[in-house]
Amino acid sequence: MTVPLDPAAVVAEFIARVGQYDPAPDAAPVAVVGVRTALGEGVYPMSDHVVRAMCRALVAYHDPDDRGRCTNCGGHRLDENLHCQDCGRLHGILGQVIAQHARRIADAHGDDVPGPGT
Ligand SMILES: [Zn+2]
Repeated sequence: MTVPLDPAAVVAEFIARVGQYDPAPDAAPVAVVGVRTALGEGVYPMSDHVVRAMCRALVAYHDPDDRGRCTNCGGHRLDENLHCQDCGRLHGILGQVIAQHARRIADAHGDDVPGPGT
């Protein structure tokens, strides 16, 4: 189980860490961000340097649960078995084997190919 984070503390830490490298530390903030949760709250001035660092962090971000996109519905919610949680399609080698098997059965019986997840 993951330990809940204090979002306000996370924002404060990000700003403090990135702010150390701000080439214009005395420049006026470009935004003020307020964070209020059950765990804490805070109001944080954000410099242009911090906003740009957030953009770079977002570009570099890769979610550990990212298993690609579903080729059927375009969803991002593939589980560890590459099973789409949105439309039910199976991906990967297992999904290909099941789809080929379903096509062979359908061809043999003159049926439509069963839909994913059925
Ligand atoms: Zn899908």
